Amino acid sequence: MNLSSLIYFSRLYGANTELVTCGGGNTSMKENGVMYVKGSGTALKDAVTESFVAMDLNKLLGIFDEEYPTEDAAREAKFVADCAKAKLPGQENKRPSVEALLHGLFPQKYVLHLHPALINGLTCSANGKEMCEKLFGDSVLWVPACRPGYTLAKIMKDIFDASDKPIKTVLLENHGVFFGANTVDDLAIHLNGMMNVLNAMITDYPQVDSDAEEPGYADLLRKATGKQFVLFNASPTALKYAAGKEAAKPIMKPFNPDQIVYCGPKVMYAATKNALEKANANVIILKGKGIYALGDSAKSAFNCMTLVKDAMKVATYAEAFGGEKPMDQELVDFIVGWEVESYRKSVSK
Ligand SMILES: [Zn+2]
Repeated sequence: MNLSSLIYFSRLYGANTELVTCGGGNTSMKENGVMYVKGSGTALKDAVTESFVAMDLNKLLGIFDEEYPTEDAAREAKFVADCAKAKLPGQENKRPSVEALLHGLFPQKYVLHLHPALINGLTCSANGKEMCEKLFGDSVLWVPACRPGYTLAKIMKDIFDASDKPIKTVLLENHGVFFGANTVDDLAIHLNGMMNVLNAMITDYPQVDSDAEEPGYADLLRKATGKQFVLFNASPTALKYAAGKEAAKPIMKPFNPDQIVYCGPKVMYAATKNALEKANANVIILKGKGIYALGDSAKSAFNCMTLVKDAMKVATYAEAFGGEKPMDQELVDFIVGWEVESYRKSVSK
């Protein structure tokens, strides 16, 4: 098999930081009943032939004929095991993306799945569904926020089955976007078309980059949390959200699974320096000063800050679509306990 076209667009989009942060996003290609899907723990921007897991497409889609337990842990364990069984011989040491089955649902040759901040400005907004219909009509399908893993796959399968025309673009609430196309050029047309429509709606652009000096509380935070790596952001947008408790509200709860994976489920708001002595989160908004991101390693602190910036972008973009809509707490709790995400976190360190 020749994966050069798949590798080409994986690297192209994977290297664009407006489209991909940390390990988020994945790609696939189908040929002669085999699907090549990005392996868990590999980065799109570094894609090579070995990054992809070859799977028997029929076997993978056979998951929908199986009975699944209703209990969360048992269901997700069986789901992961059944996905693994669909790998072709020789792929034993690879683990397919947790979203492999979603890729399999698309009839098109190529699938691109991303979590871009601009698109998530729409998928994480109060009026997301209505705006999706208004802006894209029935050419883009909206899938309400739900548990990842088997539940999401089954909901998408039912939507695909009920549709009388081929589905090319799917927006997942509080998550991201899927594009399916038979050529790499068509993927670019779909993606750029959506980005252009959304860009035209935005009036306030986030400014999240910061080289500000940390105000001198890093040691206090290290002592309180045990996390040794401390990053600080006092960008214009960070200062906007750090202006007070009400101002911080849009970024106090996670928008998407990536944020939970890399920042943890909690954001702390500290009105004063004294409150930092009881710091108990990886993300801390300090009133009037800026935002801290903490980690056990340089990489985990960097990833955490990357997702803090992503959250600020999503919240700012969401203003154009009726304001932000974070994930439900019930969904946050589910993802915290989700075995598959903890795997992704363990390989991302
Ligand atoms: Zn995803």
